[in-house]
Amino acid sequence: MTTFQALPLPQELLENLHSLGYEKPTPIQAQTIPLLQANKDLIAQAKTGSGKTLAFLLPLILKLDAQEHFPQALIIAPTRELCEQIAGEANKLARYKKDVKVITLYGGTSLRTQVASLEKGADILIGTPGRLLDHFSRETIHLGQIKTLILDEADRMLDMGFADDILKLVSNLPKERQSILFSATYPENIDKLTKVILKNPTEVKIASKEKEVAIEEFVYKVEEKDKALLTTIKHFQPNLALIFCNTKVKTAEVSDMLHDKGFDVATLNGDLEQYERQEMLLQFANGSLPVLVATDLAARGLDIEGIDLVINYDVPMKTEDYTHRIGRTGRADKSGLAVTLCDAYGLRKLGEIKPELNTQNIASLTPNKNFYMQGEVATLRIDGGKKKKVRAGDILGTLCKDIGIENKDIGKINVYQKNAYVAIKKTVIKKAFNGLKNGKIKGKNLRVWWLD
Ligand code: AMP
Repeated sequence: MTTFQALPLPQELLENLHSLGYEKPTPIQAQTIPLLQANKDLIAQAKTGSGKTLAFLLPLILKLDAQEHFPQALIIAPTRELCEQIAGEANKLARYKKDVKVITLYGGTSLRTQVASLEKGADILIGTPGRLLDHFSRETIHLGQIKTLILDEADRMLDMGFADDILKLVSNLPKERQSILFSATYPENIDKLTKVILKNPTEVKIASKEKEVAIEEFVYKVEEKDKALLTTIKHFQPNLALIFCNTKVKTAEVSDMLHDKGFDVATLNGDLEQYERQEMLLQFANGSLPVLVATDLAARGLDIEGIDLVINYDVPMKTEDYTHRIGRTGRADKSGLAVTLCDAYGLRKLGEIKPELNTQNIASLTPNKNFYMQGEVATLRIDGGKKKKVRAGDILGTLCKDIGIENKDIGKINVYQKNAYVAIKKTVIKKAFNGLKNGKIKGKNLRVWWLD
């Protein structure tokens, strides 16, 4: 199958795929969509970046039945970020169908708000194992009509110790269902899930290693890591750089150090509230904070376009973590660079997890001491989103027509349920901020914050 047209898909869906810029299926989509449409159970090995989300969502959205009152599909994923990413893709894909309701359920956000949305009904539930189980024991979710179960990044969920929670959830699903498991790797203990959950599954594996080929990897032996980090950034001069540390404390220290040196930095770790994580990622992705310092929380699932340099400030603990971290660059057929900084301890560790990598001397780099990473844009948060029927076009209209900001000075606009965010060139952001504060979007006065 080389085109979406070759599949029995309704015209509106084909048009929607076209409008999303999806012209032809990726290899994993080509292999799995026909199997899933034939209602087979499936175990598929595919990484983030391969188009796996669309591979499982497309057949699912096609088979949703508008008459059902209870959730028809359950998607279990390891992190809040991944749940949101899947939900975003599901909403885009389901645009052509009326009233497909997707709800995300993960920890760190209020149970009560989630229960209130659940009461209004949902077709697809996307959640992390712990929070889903929590809802199930409170009887706030109804799993009796689930026809499709999807486990995404199953290896990661096993790593995080979610196997028992998943098995408990699955034991309460109808036996007659389609079950699908996606995993980037097949660790030995994955049998624990596959044997119980899947019935005669077809296995699909994408053999090609295109992604790795696109990423150039360097290892530097270093004495002072902070200094080496600055040297690396100033030599490679990336547009968007993602730096991994092994601990939350270290992410904070490295961020502070870079901030003191004049860089615009975002930090992502498990200490942050959910909304803070979302805002950090958003400001990184829209270029307001072009450096992100993160724990392994950002190593999987994260799909941000344009990350051209990944730096391991600390050597990761496992080979899989290394693979996932560097997989954040070199996405969407672009090449990427991955640099690992090793002190004496790091070298020993790297020898265990990636013995094939060669070490080079950091002195071979030629840093440009005048290079800094500062956002050309900054972000404004608007206290109104989809719930208040605010659309990107409304924000653009107010900014251009009412306030007089030029289109070229406006960057990415992201609209969520309760908030919207807009990136604006720093040269005109004051004007935009004051204009939005005193003006109206869609006839409403909305509060505005300037994030920095
Ligand atoms: P995933 O592996 O699901 O994280 O997808 C990686 C990225 O590829 C996402 O940004 C998708 O929107 C995009 N994508 C998925 N399918 C296609 C396709 N057939 N053509 C182009 N882009 C796609």
